[in-house]
Formats: sequence, C-alpha cells, structure tokens
Amino acid sequence: MQITSAILPRLIQAIDDAIEINAEAVTALDQAIGDGDHVVNLQRGLHALKAQADELGRLENWPAVWQKIGMSLMSTVGGASGSLYGTLFIAMSKAAREHALDQSGFAEIFSLGVESVKQRGKADAGEKTMLDVFIPVAASLKQSAAESLPLSEVLDNICGVAASGVEATRDMLATKGRASFLGERSKGHIDAGAKTAQLMICALAAVLADSTPPT
Ligand code: ADP
Ligand code: MG
Repeated sequence: MQITSAILPRLIQAIDDAIEINAEAVTALDQAIGDGDHVVNLQRGLHALKAQADELGRLENWPAVWQKIGMSLMSTVGGASGSLYGTLFIAMSKAAREHALDQSGFAEIFSLGVESVKQRGKADAGEKTMLDVFIPVAASLKQSAAESLPLSEVLDNICGVAASGVEATRDMLATKGRASFLGERSKGHIDAGAKTAQLMICALAAVLADSTPPT
C-alpha cells in the first residue's frame, strides 16, 4: 500500500492531540528529573508543523517532507530534543535517497535515522532517553519487514514496543541529558522524552491503521 503525503495534516493533528492530552502528565515527568520544558518545546515544533501542514501535504515525496519537517523542528523546538528530532528527520530524508520506500526500505531508513540520533546525542540504548523507544521500534520495523507482516500488525507492534520501551526507562540510570545530573536519583522515574516519542508513535500508528483497508 502506498501512503501519500496527503495524510500529513491528519498525522500532525493526531500527534498534537496526543501530546496535548498528556501534557500535564509528561511535564510532571520532566519536572521530576529534567527542567520541565519538554512538552512546551515539542508543542512549539508541532505548532510550526501544523501551520505548514497543508504545504507539507502537497509535497510530492517523503524525502522532501522529512527534510522540511527536520528543518522546522531543528529551528523551533529547542532543547536537546529539538536537534535530536531535527537530526532524525533530516537523516531519514538522506537515507531515502538510497532505499526504496517499501516495507524493508522504510525499516532501513528509520534505523539509519535513529543511528544519526545516537551519534548526535552520543547516546545509546539503556541511557534513559527517547532512544529507549526509538531503538526497539527500529528493530521491530526490521523484524516485521523480514517477516513481511501486514501493515496493521506492524503498527500494532510498534505501538506496543514503544510502550514497553517507555516503561523500561523507569529503572534506568540516566547517563545523558539533564536527568544525568541527578545520578542515582534519576531512577524510579520514566523519561519524558521516551514518553513523548511513544505517544507520537502510537498516534501515528492509530491514524495509519485507521486509513488502511483491512487485510
Ligand atoms: P532539554 O533536556 O535540553 O531541556 P527537552 O526537555 O526538550 O530538552 O528534552 C529532554 C529529552 O531529550 C529527555 O527526556 C531525553 O529523552 C532526550 N535526550 C536528552 N539528551 C539526550 C541524548 N544525548 N540523546 C538522546 N536523547 C536525549
Ligand atoms: Mg527540558
């Protein structure tokens, strides 16, 4: 199935709604071990994307869309998460030059995007960041592609894997970002950036599942 960029206004709206509904809870998470601005940072980026949604939806191809989203997020979000999300999308746009936009190609493109985030943040799995959601989601996409799973199952899987990734951050020691300043006291709290990554992935999955004919 070919997913066109015309779906972008709906995707952006669904993500914005998911963040808004959970804004207080996520801000509380970031206040516990960060500086409490993560939701506001993301919402600044999402509002910029909403203003560009129709324009983005008219772009002809996903690499162009990802490039534009990445540039917007880079310049509006701020904080650690701004440059990391900007990097994710810009790297995906670059990777898309060398991979087809089919199931296994997309899994590869997303994984290369995540690799760039790792490099940019000098971080890896297990450090209590958004990467503890992105890394398992990338692995799940690759696994699903290897098994040629139907899109409905792929979407279910990534949302579930993202939720487990968030939960796993609770007992981790933060070694990157502001939470690392707390050392052992960072344990026992979910990472806010992991939580918003999961909210966004599950919102995307819900919209895509809704617009996919049952198989
Ligand atoms: P800041 O920490 O600069 O205030 P935000 O509050 O917007 O930025 O984002 C914080 C989130 O960014 C954290 O919860 C974490 O998930 C993520 N993060 C911080 N540093 C890194 C890093 N080096 N690599 C990956 N993710 C990171
Ligand atoms: Mg912050």
